[in-house]
Amino acid sequence: MKAITFHGVSDVRATDVADPKLVDATDVVLRITTSAVCGSDLHQYHGRGGGALVQTGATMGHEFMGVVEEVGAAVKTVRAGDRVIVPFSISCGHCEWCQRRLPTQCATTGRAVFGGRFGHVWGGGQAERIRVPFADHMCEKVPAGMSDDDALFLGDILSTGYVCAENGGIKPGDTVAVFGAGPVGLLAMQSAQLFGPARVFAVDRVDYRLALAGEFGAEPINLDAGDPAEQIRQRTGGHGVDVALECVGHEAPFTQAIQSVRAGGTMSSVGVYVEPSMGFPAREAFFKDLTLKMGICNARNYMTTLLPLVQRGKLKPAKIITHTMPLKDAPRGYAIFDQKQDRAIKVMLKP
Ligand code: NAD
Ligand code: ZN
Repeated sequence: MKAITFHGVSDVRATDVADPKLVDATDVVLRITTSAVCGSDLHQYHGRGGGALVQTGATMGHEFMGVVEEVGAAVKTVRAGDRVIVPFSISCGHCEWCQRRLPTQCATTGRAVFGGRFGHVWGGGQAERIRVPFADHMCEKVPAGMSDDDALFLGDILSTGYVCAENGGIKPGDTVAVFGAGPVGLLAMQSAQLFGPARVFAVDRVDYRLALAGEFGAEPINLDAGDPAEQIRQRTGGHGVDVALECVGHEAPFTQAIQSVRAGGTMSSVGVYVEPSMGFPAREAFFKDLTLKMGICNARNYMTTLLPLVQRGKLKPAKIITHTMPLKDAPRGYAIFDQKQDRAIKVMLKP
C-alpha cells in the first residue's frame, strides 16, 4: 500500500510499504478514508528533540479515520463496515493508567502513539490502511450522516483544543488569551467560547490565521507588533488575562503566556515539548500565584462527549480545513503547512 514515510529532516515521501495485518485477536484493520497533517508531525519533520529517533521509512501520521475491513476474533463491538475514528495515542483500556482515565500513560502499550517515532512499530495513519489494536476500546463509531471533515479532529486536535480550554478553568465573563492560531489554537478558541468568556485574544504572527481567529470571536494580536504580553496588559487595564492558553509548543510562547496572565490566573498549555527541559519565568509565576496545567491530551476520554457538540454545530472544527489533497501529495501538504504558504491551516489527505 501507499504510505507517507519519514526520510530525514523536511523529507517525507509517498512510498510503498507492506499492508498491515491483524496481529492480536483484539485488532482491527481499517481502510483509511481521511487523514491529516498535525502540528505534532512538524516537530518530527523539523528533527526537533528526539526527532532523529524517527526511523527512516517509518509511516507518519496519527490523525486518521476509516472503515473497518478486518476484525480480530476477540473483537466484540466493532464490525466490518463500521466507520470509526481513533485517538492518536494507543491504549489498552484496562491497565492501571487506563483505569485512572489516563490512556496516554497506558502501561500495556508503553505510552505509544501512532506514526512518526513509533511508526516503525505502530504504522501511522498517513497511509491507505492501518492496524488498530484494542479495537473495542479504541474505536469510536461515527454516526451516519456525519462527514469525515466533522469527525476526524475528535481523535486529536479538537479534543486537545477543548482540554486546553477546560484546563484553563474559564468562567463566564473571563478574559482569555490563546497563544497560537494554528489548528489547535483555533479549536481552543472555539472551545473557550463554550465557557462564556467576555473577551478572547488570539496571538500569532500569521495574518490569515489571525483573520480566522477573528471569525471565531477572538481579537487578534500580532506578536511581531511588540511583546504580546505587554500588548495584552495594555488592552486589559494593566492586569493581564484571567486565563492564557498555550497552543504552540516553544519556550517563547510558554513564557509569554505566563507573562500575560493576571495575578491568581491560570496558564494551560498543550503545546508539545520534545526537549527535556526549558526555561520559563518561574519567579514571576510564583509571585503571582499562577496555576499551571499542561500535558498530552487524553483524547479517548473526550471523543464521545464532544461528538454531539460537533453534530449540533456548537463546535465547527471543519472551518479550519484549507486543503484536501490526495495522500501521495502529502509532501507538498507538509511543506505548505510548515511554511504557512497558500494560506494553509489544516491539510487533509485522501488515500
Ligand atoms: P501549528 O504549528 O500550525 O501552530 C502553531 C502556531 O503558533 C503557528 O500558527 C505559529 O505561527 C504560531 N506561533 C509561533 N510562535 C508563536 C508565539 N510566540 N506566540 C503565538 N503564536 C506563535 O501547529 P498546531 O497543529 O496548531 O499544533 C500546535 C501545538 O499543539 C504543537 O506543539 C503540537 O505538537 C501541539 N499538540 C499537542 C497535543 C497534545 O496532546 N497536547 C495534540 C495535538 C497537537
Ligand atoms: Zn496530533
